[in-house]
Amino acid sequence: MFDNLSEKLDKALHVLKGHGQITEINVAETLKEVRRALLDADVNFKIAKEFTNKVKEKAMGQDVLTSLQPGQLMVKLVKDELTELMGGDAEGINLSGAPSIILMSGLQGSGKTTFSGKLANYLKTKKTKKPLLVACDVYRPAAIDQLHVVGEQIGVEVFSDRGNNDPVAISKAGIAHAKANGFNVVIIDTAGRLAVDEQMMKEIANIHKAIQPQETLFVVDSMTGQDAVNTAKSFNDILNFDGVILTKLDGDTRGGAAISIKSVVNKPIKFIGTGEKMDAIDVFYPSRMAERILG
Ligand code: GDP
Repeated sequence: MFDNLSEKLDKALHVLKGHGQITEINVAETLKEVRRALLDADVNFKIAKEFTNKVKEKAMGQDVLTSLQPGQLMVKLVKDELTELMGGDAEGINLSGAPSIILMSGLQGSGKTTFSGKLANYLKTKKTKKPLLVACDVYRPAAIDQLHVVGEQIGVEVFSDRGNNDPVAISKAGIAHAKANGFNVVIIDTAGRLAVDEQMMKEIANIHKAIQPQETLFVVDSMTGQDAVNTAKSFNDILNFDGVILTKLDGDTRGGAAISIKSVVNKPIKFIGTGEKMDAIDVFYPSRMAERILG
């Protein structure tokens, strides 16, 4: 995960850590290297620039040059800024409803169905909840089958209605089923397409309006870098979602989406997917991620 970025940042900061005498020039050079590392990680130019400007400002404010351990202080400033950029404090999901309704959105292949299963499993085991999964992809029968397979794997019931091609009606029926049968969380898996298009956006907006979920989550493949950020923006404009789920972080060597998505949509990353298995889910902690990136 983010190996390239870690390596490059380590190299950039190494110069400062090892330097006896630290000057304004090598602070500037280090920050230039940090910016380059962020750009290589597919962080957008503006964000990378703002990032290094902020670190520079703080470095000047804290008199890094005359401090006892200037290298260490610089590493700390970069780490703090990285944490801030990725979202500050970790945020949980809202489970206040009776039942709590969680709507999944995102492109096809982003990992929605897999994550729906992971979340149901997580809530069941960690938070002793009784979740119901609802299959609302009316275009791909295989997607409904996939959710049933996932449900069986984790021992969670799946509600589907194969003859019905109205996702709003299915989601409402799913919620009614949950209420009648003592489920306290309803996770609604929806249809995605390969790219953002008007029909998909209209459909998810209609479902959102009809069921008024406590939590709307946007699921995105972290390996798509800047595209992930742009897609997040499109979905957020329509749904004003509550949080981001970054999937496939296990295969992401760059880290651009993880680093920039929060500052573009101003919504927290709530969970990450780190594998195909049902237990490959983690709460996203910006500070731990920054720690991991900077070693
Ligand atoms: P959907 O179309 O959005 O429902 O996406 P799926 O849940 O079907 O996932 C698409 C593919 O990505 C599947 O092959 C999943 O096994 C895989 N996948 C999902 N999440 C992760 C993850 O966190 N890590 C890895 N390595 N693969 C994942």
